[in-house]
Amino acid sequence: MADLPPSSLRLLLDEGAIAANWRTLSGLSGGAVAGAAVKANAYGLGVEFAVPALREAGCADFYVAHWGEAAKVAPLVKPTELSVLHGPLTDEHVAFAIATGVRPVINSLPQAKRWLDGGGGICDLMIDTGINRLGVAMADIAEPVLQELQIETLMSHLSSADEDSAANAAQLGLFRQASAKFSPRRRSLANSAGIALGADYAFDITRPGLSLYGGVPRPELAEAIQQVAFPQAAIMQLRKLAAGDRVGYNGEYTARRDMLAGIVSLGYADGFLRSWGARGALSSNGRMLPLLGKVSMDMVVVDLGAAPDLKEGDWLDVPYHLPDAARTSGLSQYELLTTLGKRYDRQSKPA
Ligand SMILES: *Cc1c(COP(=O)(O)O)cnc(C)c1O
Repeated sequence: MADLPPSSLRLLLDEGAIAANWRTLSGLSGGAVAGAAVKANAYGLGVEFAVPALREAGCADFYVAHWGEAAKVAPLVKPTELSVLHGPLTDEHVAFAIATGVRPVINSLPQAKRWLDGGGGICDLMIDTGINRLGVAMADIAEPVLQELQIETLMSHLSSADEDSAANAAQLGLFRQASAKFSPRRRSLANSAGIALGADYAFDITRPGLSLYGGVPRPELAEAIQQVAFPQAAIMQLRKLAAGDRVGYNGEYTARRDMLAGIVSLGYADGFLRSWGARGALSSNGRMLPLLGKVSMDMVVVDLGAAPDLKEGDWLDVPYHLPDAARTSGLSQYELLTTLGKRYDRQSKPA
């Protein structure tokens, strides 16, 4: 087969920025060191990019959600560096963990029993201190089966670290209470936003995800965190619009005068959802090119009034400074990253 020609979408990834973000977050973690949540294919950016860059920076603890993700990350790390957050849901998961040396996070009494019955070994333990998602309930922490576990990292997860909420101190208190019941090698509570809550939340290891990839969940991190992912989309066709012409699905935009438009390769499957709507714009060398009408499946149409020199094949920037993009699109910073999809050529950002 012929070599695959380049895509009309590319995602420029800044290795220096992800490494700097990890070092920053580790530095802000007090006496603790930072690990890295690399689930969901490193929040959409690609584990092949993120994991080696983070390891080179010094990161030695990685967290995925699914076992299929563990299989993809395992060749990039030492087995002892990888934990699976969803834990052993079946005996096959137990067998996989034992065969590979990848660590399961035990989230419930049935998971603890399944792990021990299957031969067990070193694991992590998640305590639910109020998010009511995965994790052993506080009411169950004295159960004898948990005392049989060999715990590497005892952890809990904050529900509201991106807000100044009373829930944060409450969860911290419960985590301390739970900590007293176990003798893990390490303790871990803070995600990206939790790191900004201060040294009390850091314990031995922090677990940032979002901020490694350029997300800013709290204003304290705004100056310190660098943008990592820079999507670009190519102009596929130029089109002259006459006054009265309507654009895209449902003809939502109507040209008020003669104008030049660019048809751009960017759509839902690339994470560009209709919620970008009327306020959204792409750009070229800082010149703003407003969206015209709805995102129409695999395409958007932009007003080239500010950049009439552009031609077919030229690349446009998708504005992906995450806090700004979240405000414009109404999507969360997590959604902006994890929905980027598979059609981008992921490549290093030139220095
Ligand atoms: C996703 C996740 C993280 C990372 O959270 P961010 O908010 O992205 O920093 C940490 N710990 C657990 C258990 C997670 O599920």
